[in-house]
Amino acid sequence: MERRKTRKIQVGDVAIGDDAPISVQSMTSGYTHHVDECIAEITKLANAGADIVRVAVPEKKDTEILGEIISQVNVPIVADVHFHFKRALEAIEAGVHKIRLNPGNIGDIEQVHSVIDACKDANIPIRIGVNEGSIVERKDKQKRQKELTSFFSDRKHGHLLALMIAKVEEYLDIFDSRDFHDICLSAKLMDARLVIDIYEELSKRFDYPLHLGVTHAGPRETGSIRSISALGSLLSQGIGDTIRISYASDPLFEVEDGVELLNCLHLRERVGAELIACPSCGRIQVDLFSLVDDVRNQLQHEIDLPIKVAVMGCVVNGPGEAEGADVAVFAGDRRGIIYVQGERVANVPEEEILNRLLLECKGLQERVQKGETKLGEKAVSIVAPPESAVTIEGHHQ
Ligand code: SF4
Repeated sequence: MERRKTRKIQVGDVAIGDDAPISVQSMTSGYTHHVDECIAEITKLANAGADIVRVAVPEKKDTEILGEIISQVNVPIVADVHFHFKRALEAIEAGVHKIRLNPGNIGDIEQVHSVIDACKDANIPIRIGVNEGSIVERKDKQKRQKELTSFFSDRKHGHLLALMIAKVEEYLDIFDSRDFHDICLSAKLMDARLVIDIYEELSKRFDYPLHLGVTHAGPRETGSIRSISALGSLLSQGIGDTIRISYASDPLFEVEDGVELLNCLHLRERVGAELIACPSCGRIQVDLFSLVDDVRNQLQHEIDLPIKVAVMGCVVNGPGEAEGADVAVFAGDRRGIIYVQGERVANVPEEEILNRLLLECKGLQERVQKGETKLGEKAVSIVAPPESAVTIEGHHQ
């Protein structure tokens, strides 16, 4: 997919926009001034693949310890500022790598100017974040909004989108007046279709990098569908330079799902194993769901290379669907036949499948690390054993 050309901004050692890899962001859920917990949460998110982490700084006691937090974590930190311009100035002073700001929340334009100027002096960018909840219609913008509304008239909720675009333009005027262009834009809504519409529009109108997200998406179970459908569609069009998936849940899930989204779209190089598993059906011959859960957990801890592992419930369709896997297991008559790089290496009872599979994965990882073989190379043409053979061999080995 062709990526949309944008300006590039620098957030600590992470670039956003243009040809920079698409980054994954998240936000801590605890109080920033609970310094040890905050550092632990940032570290947990970074270890899961977050490239940038945002923290809220609603009080002075939050910005006071920001410097300590920044010095003890290994990802750039963004200060999320609402209402209090002084928190932004304090965060900049503390060495934060980016400010997230909604100028409309700070009322006094001179205060907004002071934040912009401080970011310029410190050479750090600002994300201008406009959310559907913070849109307020202004009388002096009515004409512009009318034009925009007619532009969006063929789309559901066109007026809301028009208001948001007008708001972004209004804010950009403020930044232009200070000759500040070190900017990233976001415009979040909770309706996935509208998120696609507004980011498509932003990408046509502005060349600033875009921070994609769906706001108040809900719990992971439903929020993931809402977020992935919108962000996946945009990323597939080459729109979006950094993403945050947001759930009413542990932010670790936001990072895990954001990373997996980029992996699936080939926008990030996979770290660790890739698990393929069949959905199971009436042909199932082992407790597949428990096996898949166990395999997934163990792979996460034990495998660093992008080994493709397939767990298939039977020998009927499994081999075809597992084609391309480096390691695969096909269940049959409460046993598992294990293949490594296309060669059958074991036929074990159900209770031994997990351990043997992991052993084979670790063995393959070691051989790859020693340069004896490569992943993906011999992972072709797994031939399905006849169904009867699985049973017979299983009972006689
Ligand atoms: S691999 Fe076998 S058990 Fe799994 S879905 Fe396909 S046919 Fe069903």
